[in-house]
Amino acid sequence: MAINWTDAQIEQVVNAVIKELGTEKRVEKDNYCSKFYEGRKLIGIYDDMNDAISAAEQGYKAIRSMRVEEREKIITEIRELCRKEATIMAGLGVSETKMGNVAHKTAKHVLVADKTPGTQDIVSQVKTGDYGLTLTEMAPFGVVGSITPSTNPSETVICNSIGMIAAGNGVVFNPHPNAIATSNYAVDLVNRACKKAGGPEVLVASVVKPTLDTAQTMYKHPSIRLLVCTGGPGVVKSVLSSGKKAIGAGAGNPPVVVDETADVVKAGKDIIDGCTFDNNLPCIAEKEVFAVNSIADELIRSMLNSGAYKITLEQAEELSKMVLVDTKNPKTGIIKKTVSRDCVGRDAKVLLSKIGVKAPESVRCIICETDFEHPFVQHELMMPILPIVRCKNVDEAIDLAVKAEHGNRHTAHMHSKNIDNLTRFARAVETTIFVKNAPSYAGIGFGGEGHTTFTIAGPTGEGLTSARSFTRYRRCVMSDNFRII
Ligand code: NAD
Repeated sequence: MAINWTDAQIEQVVNAVIKELGTEKRVEKDNYCSKFYEGRKLIGIYDDMNDAISAAEQGYKAIRSMRVEEREKIITEIRELCRKEATIMAGLGVSETKMGNVAHKTAKHVLVADKTPGTQDIVSQVKTGDYGLTLTEMAPFGVVGSITPSTNPSETVICNSIGMIAAGNGVVFNPHPNAIATSNYAVDLVNRACKKAGGPEVLVASVVKPTLDTAQTMYKHPSIRLLVCTGGPGVVKSVLSSGKKAIGAGAGNPPVVVDETADVVKAGKDIIDGCTFDNNLPCIAEKEVFAVNSIADELIRSMLNSGAYKITLEQAEELSKMVLVDTKNPKTGIIKKTVSRDCVGRDAKVLLSKIGVKAPESVRCIICETDFEHPFVQHELMMPILPIVRCKNVDEAIDLAVKAEHGNRHTAHMHSKNIDNLTRFARAVETTIFVKNAPSYAGIGFGGEGHTTFTIAGPTGEGLTSARSFTRYRRCVMSDNFRII
């Protein structure tokens, strides 16, 4: 006799079996896990991108008639749920993507909950004068289409949602295919929070199986008025070619300069702390070091005392063959070195084991001395491997660091007590974020002042995005009146 089970019942049984077999398989499986979590149907997840867009549009229309304080109530609920379920999302992210570290991902979610600006970021401006009063207000776009990465999947969904909802928008996501379950869990979390705060059933939406085709549907849909893309160069380029207003948050390759005036012991520890945060997945994390020769040995000693493991140049060559692989562009046939997805965001010990090194438990970063041309310097690896280039003086260090940043104008770091040197590097590198004498994550408000974001829009100029980045300015003019003086 046939049993007519519902999708949720099938999911429950599959999860029970998979639990027996090991948790990783649960998220590896396929679609069902991006629509359900432990038997619970996720809210706002659709098979068809067009349906996701119309649900987000309904949500947008519903919040248009709500007061700003009601919108803020939704955001307060999102913050609360994000804090409460930070570890669940961190665990889901690590098991689905096989990248990063649960403790650090948990901290990233708490950072998003605490330091992503809400409606206070939306401020109106008034100009009065001889001819009356002009009011400028930050209005929503409507429905925002957002492309999110695998490196900070749920963090980006929640951070974008807080800012975009604070601005009065609905959102539809096309998450990274390698992080669908984690991203869609976050979409559901936002909708649960919204409902709890008296908002619409669905305010943010996503699809069961995001692809490049669903992204194209999103680009072309007339209801999508703003596109926001957080990812590598390929996807940022595709969004910027869409013909729509777009915010592009692209790749970086953040260099660190250490000069002879730095507190070298602190610099070594700060650099390793920043570089190993979530196994180097954040786009702002330290990727290569340019150290003035006179302090390079002391800097390396400090790094070794902070959990680094130094490999030889020969070992670096061997490791390079594992972490960078030849990839053929299907259109042009040109072969290019790209980072191996099997290595991105992995633990240093796992990477070392690939070249036969069994490292002590305390090791969290691989360091090596290389020249400027080495692939570890030139490629954005997103793994805890840190090349160090010795420079004869700070001028050479700054010149090489600017070149290694490749004009991304994303993020750079410097450890120095010389104001002239700090200013010179900041001016030369022109990055959106410049961190002085601290780990990289101070630049996104973790142990540093200022708000946080996981969408740092260098190419299109919004910088560290927040609610106001997702608004359009509207002007209302009252001629010859309303000036009270
Ligand atoms: P990725 O570039 O592999 O993918 C990002 C998203 O784009 C995914 O959803 C992917 O499926 C989609 N995509 C890729 N090509 C596309 C195309 N042509 N059209 C439509 N969609 C497309 O990103 P990733 O590997 O997960 O993230 C790492 C990259 O993102 C790094 O380069 C990192 O520096 C960058 N990043 C930047 C920021 C920032 O704020 N600037 C934040 C996080 C990550």
